[in-house]
Amino acid sequence: MSIAVHRAGWSRLPLRAAAFVVLTCTAILGISAWREWSAREAVLRGAETEMANVARSLTQHAEDSLDLLDSGVVGVVARLEMDGTEPATIAKLRNLLEARRKAMERVHSLAIVDDQGNWLTSPGTIASTLSDDDFFRHHQLSSKREAYVGRPVQSQLDGEWVVTLSRRFNKLDGSFGGAVLATISSRYLAHFYEQFEIGRNSSVALVHSDGMIIARNPSNDKFVGRSVADAPLFRDPSLQRAGGAYHFKSPLDGAERVSFFKRSIRYPLMLLATVDKTELLAPWRAAAISRMLYVLALVILIAVIGAVLVRQLQRGQRMAAALIEKEAHFRLLAEGSSDMVTRIGFDERLRYVSPSSFGLVGWRANQLIGTPALAGINPDDRPHVQAIIDAMKRGDMEEARLTYRNAHRQNGEVWLESTMRVTRKDNGDADGVVAISRDISEQKKLETRLETLAIEDSLTGLANRRRFDERLKEEWARAYRDRSSLSLLMVDVDHFKAYNDEYGHPAGDACLRVVAKVIAAEMQRAGDLAARYGGEEFAMLLPNTDAAGCARIGDRIRRAIREAGLVHTSNHATGFVTASLGGAACRPALERTAGVGSLVEAADQALYAAKEAGRNRLMMSGEVTSLLPKASGL
Ligand code: GH3
Ligand code: MG
Ligand code: MG
Repeated sequence: MSIAVHRAGWSRLPLRAAAFVVLTCTAILGISAWREWSAREAVLRGAETEMANVARSLTQHAEDSLDLLDSGVVGVVARLEMDGTEPATIAKLRNLLEARRKAMERVHSLAIVDDQGNWLTSPGTIASTLSDDDFFRHHQLSSKREAYVGRPVQSQLDGEWVVTLSRRFNKLDGSFGGAVLATISSRYLAHFYEQFEIGRNSSVALVHSDGMIIARNPSNDKFVGRSVADAPLFRDPSLQRAGGAYHFKSPLDGAERVSFFKRSIRYPLMLLATVDKTELLAPWRAAAISRMLYVLALVILIAVIGAVLVRQLQRGQRMAAALIEKEAHFRLLAEGSSDMVTRIGFDERLRYVSPSSFGLVGWRANQLIGTPALAGINPDDRPHVQAIIDAMKRGDMEEARLTYRNAHRQNGEVWLESTMRVTRKDNGDADGVVAISRDISEQKKLETRLETLAIEDSLTGLANRRRFDERLKEEWARAYRDRSSLSLLMVDVDHFKAYNDEYGHPAGDACLRVVAKVIAAEMQRAGDLAARYGGEEFAMLLPNTDAAGCARIGDRIRRAIREAGLVHTSNHATGFVTASLGGAACRPALERTAGVGSLVEAADQALYAAKEAGRNRLMMSGEVTSLLPKASGL
């Protein structure tokens, strides 16, 4: 999967997380709001039911009250029609009516009115007539015998608001004789309604069908006689039914109300029970507000935590992207480089190997990962590498540069140069080593060649003079330390100038090569060193060799050169190439000498003595000093 695809997928992640948080918060808020709304609706429905019960029972009460009144009125009408309106009859009836009125609390008054609207039963103090009253005119004009419930009026007896129920009675000839009137006091009804505790701001009102209030609790005195005929309850066609729930804004006190109205079927009355909506919903509102505050706090908490998480997600994503980019850079560097980059864990196994391993050691990266890091290193070099790794593990070493030989899958062995460095975790703890290795085989070859050039004589392949001088010093020091003896042989070709002159310089060179080979063949111990000392002069350094040993080897060399059979006609003594040798031996720790130079000088003198003595012979330094020349030639 490409980095771009990764990034596209990632950048959507915080957005999705944010959307999820928003959705969760919205859902919690939505569900809570819906629940609160349902609770509110339940409160309203409950209130409607309660109001409906109140309205039904109070309507029943009003009807019962009027029925009670009517039963009295019906009796009086029957008596009047039977006995007529003679003063004696009226007097008897007056007592009866008075007794009845007193017996029934809800009856305000019972009265008989004659055909002119005059009171027949009331005390003579009332002079007024009822001829203009609504109920009177109704009975006067209509021959109907049913009970008539009139508009609420103020009683002429005591000024109280009353509702009237009346019936017409006829004279014996069937003409209009007057009316029997019974009233219920508005105050009685209001007082009765007080018993229904349906809330502080609730009300119960009995209204006449023409819109005039008959009784109301509370504030009966204030509202009785007022008309609410303009209210929708009387105008709105949809509300002209037997009963139902009704929400409205009160024209009386401006408060929002939940109510239930019930119209009486038998009488022109309607009962309206209402409750103040604000007051009704107050407990719900308080609970809902506190609940919603908790929910809101929860939502804010979720939103804040969500925002923090989204922010962290974004930051993490940015960091991951930066890391990927960085890693890509490094990978590009590691994988694009011809050098092999490896990461070695502290278990000494390879954790990462760059692809250039194939070119360097012949193995693919995936074949190497997990294998021991030091496995391919030449056993001779391994302890050194191991020591460095151990030092890094211990924390004694931070970085190192080292060269070693490493196996190549196909090409035997390669020289590698590695720069190693301790890698650390974020907390600073070392967790491994990173090594950058390059193939320095060519360089090594060149170095070896240069080294050889520096110490080798190009013509003969023997050690050169510089090398000889170095080794001489070393061997001198060693002999001094070990109290051993050190010998030196100096070999000089006889009459070589003449050889050159006779056979030419190139032949002279060839001759020198043969002589060198012969001398080299006589080197028997690892420490022996044959060198070209200069021109046609050679030297053989023999550590741990005394004078006798030196003389033995010197003589072998002399003989071998002669036996090589190189024709040299100008060397008249033999006709072949011969050489003269001077040997010297000493034990630096035991003898008083003037240092390294004294050995060379002694050998040189011996050589000179050999030349002097006739060439093709060996002279030992002791022989020189004792001036006992001894030829050992053929
Ligand atoms: P002696 O027996 O006394 O040693 O006589 P000699 O001729 O060998 O001694 P001398 O020192 O006079 O001559 C040395 C000669 O060796 C001189 C020089 O031309 C020759 N020679 C020195 N180095 C080389 C060389 O590298 N190649 C050749 N072909 N000749 C060399
Ligand atoms: Mg010479
Ligand atoms: Mg010579």
